[in-house]
Amino acid sequence: MILLLLLFATAAQAATIHTDFEGGRMGRVEEVAKDHFRLHVIGQTDQAGRNRQASWYYFRADGARGRTLTFDLVDLAGEYNYQPNRGAITRDTPPYISFDQKSWQAIDDAQYDETGPSMRFRVSLGTKQDRVWIAHVPPYTNANLQVLLRDVSRLPYVRVESLGQTPQKRDIPLLTIGEGKKVIWLMFRQHAWEAGSSWTGEGAIRFLTSNEPEAVAIRKGVIVKIMPMCDPDGVANGGVRFNAAGYDLNRNWDIDDPAKMPEIAAQKKAIYGWLDAGNRIDAFVTVHNTETNEYLAGPPDRTKKTRPLLERFHEYWMAGKTFAPSSPEPRVEPETTTSGMAGRMNVVQGLYAARQVPGFLIEMRIAKHPKLGGARPNIADRMLAGREMVTALWKALND
Ligand SMILES: [Zn+2]
Repeated sequence: MILLLLLFATAAQAATIHTDFEGGRMGRVEEVAKDHFRLHVIGQTDQAGRNRQASWYYFRADGARGRTLTFDLVDLAGEYNYQPNRGAITRDTPPYISFDQKSWQAIDDAQYDETGPSMRFRVSLGTKQDRVWIAHVPPYTNANLQVLLRDVSRLPYVRVESLGQTPQKRDIPLLTIGEGKKVIWLMFRQHAWEAGSSWTGEGAIRFLTSNEPEAVAIRKGVIVKIMPMCDPDGVANGGVRFNAAGYDLNRNWDIDDPAKMPEIAAQKKAIYGWLDAGNRIDAFVTVHNTETNEYLAGPPDRTKKTRPLLERFHEYWMAGKTFAPSSPEPRVEPETTTSGMAGRMNVVQGLYAARQVPGFLIEMRIAKHPKLGGARPNIADRMLAGREMVTALWKALND
């Protein structure tokens, strides 16, 4: 009886790690000591087993009331565009934690060890907290998007449709807002780990559908076509940057393979179909996240016809509170990410090569941000970035 009670008490004290929720992801868990876990980040490789990135994890610890848990994240090294790298989890990108899965806070005091590399951090729970969620950045799942779509699809000036289905039979949504003469296409979340892209998209959509005078004016002047979730399978499965068949959805725009990449096929059909029907595209924008860089890049346009729009867009957004580019000048995309190899054009490169679409690629940093007093971007900052990005582009198009 005493032994049983002791066993029960010991079992009750062991914290447990869980990933059985949307976007949840973690590999092997080793309990190296009481309240101390070594966590193997799974990462993801492409269709050929290359370009491993370990930039997504999302898990929950249960049964940790009033205790301090120590975590070591390991298996972090990776490869990007076929070049080895130290991975996306570095001293610049410690985790975010949440006690309610809604508000998130960045941890500052993680210890990064370059030799592994590995990252150690601790989380302390109060006596009223029994569980804690931990992720690379504040998560945004298909469930978040459903709430947004439910809210905005009621509005008379918003149309929501499906462009087709993913390999795992999820819809690929398209929103249409506004009725003006000019046309903007916006694309978010081509890469599953980049949840900040989706929060930026949510901010843009909440603003564009609001009754604010500036939003009403934009809706009168422009049609905005928005692809808010380009890799719904990856987001659901806690993937990193490849779709369910292993393909990078922001590469491969120079090849056609609807069986392996139905997402790209559906997006191309919508965009080229729009142009083939005699409509215009004044600007196309895709929004991404990266570790410490931030930039706006224009299309690989040798004629330089798109240069003035690129410069105005860059300048107007830079004047706001959310965009702090790593260099003062906007970038220009090269014609491909890997020369001499098929399947290596991103969406901006592919659309320009095929139809001279003026496309722009945005990378927003997840590390400490100069315009946030050195804090790391959180959900409200991302949403404001979406609003400022759309407003800057609108202004640039009207000069
Ligand atoms: Zn990306």
